[in-house]
Amino acid sequence: MLRQDRWDTIVIGAGPSGSTAARFIAQCGFKVLILERERFPGQGKACGGGIPFGLIKQLSLPESIIEKKIYSHILHFPSGVKIYKYRRPIFATVYRSSFDRFLVERAVSMGASLITQCRVFNIIKNKEGTTAITNRGRFFSKLIIFANGASNLAYRMSGVGINLRKNNTYLAIAYELDDKNTALDAFEVFYNPHSIPWGYYWIFPKRDRLNVGVDCLCSKIKKNLRFCLDEFINTDRYLRDKKRIRFIAGLIPACLATRLVSDNVLVIGDAAGMVNPIIGEGLKYAIRTGELAGVSCVDTLMLKRFDRKTLLVYPRRFHRTGEFCWLKIWHLIAGFFSNLDKQTLFMQISIVYIYIARIIFKFMKKKIYGG
Ligand SMILES: Cc1cc2nc3c(=O)[nH]c(=O)nc-3n(C[C@H](O)[C@H](O)[C@H](O)COP(=O)(O)OP(=O)(O)OC[C@H]3O[C@@H](n4cnc5c(N)ncnc54)[C@H](O)[C@@H]3O)c2cc1C
Repeated sequence: MLRQDRWDTIVIGAGPSGSTAARFIAQCGFKVLILERERFPGQGKACGGGIPFGLIKQLSLPESIIEKKIYSHILHFPSGVKIYKYRRPIFATVYRSSFDRFLVERAVSMGASLITQCRVFNIIKNKEGTTAITNRGRFFSKLIIFANGASNLAYRMSGVGINLRKNNTYLAIAYELDDKNTALDAFEVFYNPHSIPWGYYWIFPKRDRLNVGVDCLCSKIKKNLRFCLDEFINTDRYLRDKKRIRFIAGLIPACLATRLVSDNVLVIGDAAGMVNPIIGEGLKYAIRTGELAGVSCVDTLMLKRFDRKTLLVYPRRFHRTGEFCWLKIWHLIAGFFSNLDKQTLFMQISIVYIYIARIIFKFMKKKIYGG
């Protein structure tokens, strides 16, 4: 029976981050179990499904999963419209139900086990490892990876990951509108600071549907967000007559976790705040942190040491990546515009200088001492 086994790693959540981490661990021959609260991974997941085209190649996604290749960005500002066209597709859209399913099936084909409709509501640590307590029983393992999306679960259970509050979380809602064989092939983004002071409306086309949504930092919401989205759709000539098939809502973290590991525990993806705080893009960071956490778990499983110090190999690896560098820059930019009082502005400029000085210092050190 799965339940009586002792696992090397338990992954909470079969989203893109969790399935990626599980795949890396399983393919090295370790016993990994994914616990997912939904019946099917990706079911009911609120997401625009926009992913960079490079990620499609990296994951070798089959064509059948790609809904639309995106050849242009159209940005609508109150002052005018900017159009960026590209010769090659730079983004694509997917349905999360098929994308998440593909990733989890790949992890399972590598040897990972999956239990669905299994909600983790607590974890207990003891000398031998950790126990995940779920509606389907208790599961024991040496390591636990929190890959459970935008929630405070990891923070409450282990003091790692994000602590969501109104001023560091977006509320995002979207409709899927019927638009058979849509001719649209651009990502359209609309900035309207009057109704949405810190966020934007979007239209992301799929093959037969349009994902039309809006997000706004919770602390800056002025009016009911659904009312704003309805108004946006009803005043757009192309959108207003389209049938609304589905309504979805979710949270997007706009805060980076300061602690990514503790004894026996790691946190990845949205649960660690790995999202661009300006545009809400999180899929590529979820996959990247999943990979790095997976590789780091393999290292620690081979060493048979699961304390925080040994697990720090994961954040160290992540801090060396371009993705981390960009996330930091996006957070600094977001900080500039959201708190433009003089004191914070001064602090933020100082942080940028310190950060750039550190990069130059590291570069010089490498040049002088090598390695
Ligand atoms: C409306 C909206 C639109 C978005 N659009 C885009 C976009 O176009 N492009 C982009 O890059 N990003 C987008 N994002 C962000 C993106 O969805 C996330 O960054 C991404 O899904 C993070 O992946 P993850 O694996 O970390 O978490 P998730 O995808 O959230 O997966 C977490 C999994 O854990 C499961 N789970 C949660 N709690 C438990 C529990 N207690 N026990 C067991 N299982 C549990 C969930 O069911 C889920 O399957 C959007 C987000 C929203 C809300």
